[in-house]
Amino acid sequence: MARGGSQHWSSGESDGRPEEQTTEDSGDKMVKETQYYDILGVKPSASPEEIKKAYRKLALKYHPDKNPDEGEKFKLISQAYEVLSDPKKREIYDQGGEQAIKEGGSGSPSFSSPMDIFDMFFGGGGRMARERRGKNVVHQLSVTLEDLYNGVTKKLALQKNVICEKCEGVGGKKGSVEKCPVCKGRGMQIHIQQIGPGMVQQIQTMCIECKGQGERINPKDRCESCNGAKVIREKKIIEVHVEKGMKDGQKILFHGEGDQEPELEPGDVIIVLDQKDHSVFQRRGHDLIMKMKIQLSEALCGFKKTIKTLDDRVLVITSKSGEVIKHGDLKCVRNEGMPIYKSPLEKGILIIQFLVIFPEKHWLPQDKLSQLEALLPPRQKVRITEDMDQVELKEFNPNEQNWRQHREAYEEDDDGPRAGVQCQTA
Ligand SMILES: [Zn+2]
Ligand SMILES: [Zn+2]
Repeated sequence: MARGGSQHWSSGESDGRPEEQTTEDSGDKMVKETQYYDILGVKPSASPEEIKKAYRKLALKYHPDKNPDEGEKFKLISQAYEVLSDPKKREIYDQGGEQAIKEGGSGSPSFSSPMDIFDMFFGGGGRMARERRGKNVVHQLSVTLEDLYNGVTKKLALQKNVICEKCEGVGGKKGSVEKCPVCKGRGMQIHIQQIGPGMVQQIQTMCIECKGQGERINPKDRCESCNGAKVIREKKIIEVHVEKGMKDGQKILFHGEGDQEPELEPGDVIIVLDQKDHSVFQRRGHDLIMKMKIQLSEALCGFKKTIKTLDDRVLVITSKSGEVIKHGDLKCVRNEGMPIYKSPLEKGILIIQFLVIFPEKHWLPQDKLSQLEALLPPRQKVRITEDMDQVELKEFNPNEQNWRQHREAYEEDDDGPRAGVQCQTA
């Protein structure tokens, strides 16, 4: 397997986690091509959750409703997501690239329509539902972690189609709607084309005159308000109640508040929460995770530290006398995580990962080192013999040498704290 062609990933919005001191070189997964990953702005090692989140953000950004000129981009995002969200297709793609996807299965690449993918993702119910109902209006709402902790009500201005009041959705004067004279009400036109001597082909196309509606309104009878469109664009303010414990990507549904169309049930408004990264806390399910720097003296001799919570309280944490906190150690505080949705009095845990700051070189005068050493656990004795090689120990710079960088043990622990997290009862 060859390592993928392009090794620089576009920095997607999906990976904005505040991972200080983390090398994040998990893009080491071997894949043939990275194009689909690049389109979504994720690394080939991205988790299904990260892929979902990347799709969610991009699909909303490039949806034809919001960005009518980016239809091609919307399609690419949809195709990339369709492949990468399916474990089987993703594996085929990782091994054989786009070519393998196109050859896979029955021969022709069978991508679903970008709109179907979008509707399935955001809960629109697919093409059938779309044809019997007005369009859903999907909108992303940016919220902070504080909003999700405390709950908040936000006002959101939306553009939607409403039935024109002036003509009551007729599009013109009563009785002005006539059968389209071009297609005779079928909405389709049939062209006969000669494709060879004695051979003709029938081609059906949508009627241009009535845009497939089968009926039209004489221009002079058209409603002045909607110009015959039957609907008008209207600005509507909705109040979105973000409840305690809701999470990134959660949908809030406003039934029947979407686009109106004559003779159809109106669509829904779907609000999708999009949580901004927080400078201190990361959320994982009901739990909050934070990193805390402590001095070496605090790690060895104990400390008191404060933490400002998402509802502006201040917690004081204390390490027990005689306890030693190691670099990367995890501790937790019960009931200081995120409130649980629909049961906000219950909360998850707050997990604190300690980062021990070691002093800089020569922080202690040479003559005092022996005093320090006398207090610390004894060194291990090493026997040096003649046949050993004395070599020089130099600074290591990963950019200079092309060696693979080893991640520190605590950094590999991306998927959550190990078992045996000790809990401090607050
Ligand atoms: Zn027609
Ligand atoms: Zn009208």
